[in-house]
Amino acid sequence: MTFEQLGLSAGLLRAVADQGYTEPTPIQLKAIPVILDGQDILASAQTGTGKTAGFTLPLLQRLGTNASNGRRMTRALILTPTRELAAQVGESVTTYGKYLPFRAAMIYGGVSFGGQIRQLRQGVDIIIATPGRLLDHVNQGTIDLSAVEILVLDECDRMLDMGFIHDIRKIMALLGQPRQTLMFSATFSKPIQQLAHTLLKSPVQIEVVPRNTAADRVEQVVHPVDRHRKRELLSHIIGFHNWQQVLVFTRTKHGANRLAEQLAKDGLKTAAIHGNKTQAARARALKDFKQGRVRVLVATDVASRGIDIDQLPYVVNFELPNVPEDYVHRIGRTGRAGNEGRAISLISDDELPLLVSIERLLKKSLTQDIVPGYEPSFASDTSSVRSAPAPAGPRRQRPRSRSGGGGAPRRASAGARG
Ligand code: AMP
Repeated sequence: MTFEQLGLSAGLLRAVADQGYTEPTPIQLKAIPVILDGQDILASAQTGTGKTAGFTLPLLQRLGTNASNGRRMTRALILTPTRELAAQVGESVTTYGKYLPFRAAMIYGGVSFGGQIRQLRQGVDIIIATPGRLLDHVNQGTIDLSAVEILVLDECDRMLDMGFIHDIRKIMALLGQPRQTLMFSATFSKPIQQLAHTLLKSPVQIEVVPRNTAADRVEQVVHPVDRHRKRELLSHIIGFHNWQQVLVFTRTKHGANRLAEQLAKDGLKTAAIHGNKTQAARARALKDFKQGRVRVLVATDVASRGIDIDQLPYVVNFELPNVPEDYVHRIGRTGRAGNEGRAISLISDDELPLLVSIERLLKKSLTQDIVPGYEPSFASDTSSVRSAPAPAGPRRQRPRSRSGGGGAPRRASAGARG
């Protein structure tokens, strides 16, 4: 099946060809005809599957088909959880719509309000926004959403996690009717299904990967290591393998800053992005990282949403996330659009319960690999944690005896656990 066969217009086909895409991805194959047909969808697609083009292409086509009468009104609204994702999606709208006459505006915080007002006054067909800043404009009377006929909720699970549910409901109440709503979520949790039930009209449900599974193409390895040696091990791994582009996740903003400083002292060009950085600083760090001027990018979960780098080869979990689903989001940053990727997690003993939750979500055990010279002082076998009566805190166990350093890394395929 080709893009032509999906019934896309000439301008869109040309833009797609400019990108070098030869055939639609599975989500595009499923979503594009349904969206062109005007139906609501509830789609579960991980990042990296091509979902952005999956909704942007048919959205642009529908705006072109149902031509507006005269004055330029905002007819499509795309909501995303973070500024980075809004910027990313905005870029896609510009890319795929470059041969079409539409104007798009990105409306998110951290940048000048006045500049956005000027843009909105000129009239825009498509708005890509984060909920908070969009509502600021609504409250100031600088935005009119009453003609919106297509709404996209991107990474909806994340918007719920970030507490945007009330904002979303407020925004929904301002939109035009009838309306087509497209809901995308990496996972189909209960709250997502409940929200879908109230917001969507007989949605077509689209699922291109099994629920809650990490991308199969990403090779995942766990390195058990004492917490105080994590930074040293990370520098060692990056240097030893000569990795040139590594995205590293920490749990906190403070942790991201500290780690970035330490890695820089180790001689690795490093930048950090998190919610406390200005939008300009975040954009600059991302650009430097994409263009290879920065070798290591340290990010928190929120800041990482929307990072789309073709062929990002390595993702490191310096700390495991508290929410197992975030692990899936994190490793989805590599292995995109069919490329191979590698995700490694450095885990200390206090993180074993988190590892158990992640393995439960993935429905598989992750391969453990102790790096010689960095042997942990704890036993990392999660089967004892798993069978523990309560999932409380970390369980301290007697250290395993070790065969002494040197030689190849000791592989303990966790699958062999009883
Ligand atoms: P997304 O899941 O929307 O974040 O897209 C992930 C990556 O896949 C982006 O870098 C897109 O440029 C790329 N992509 C989207 N559609 C296709 C396609 N049909 N063929 C090849 N790459 C694609």
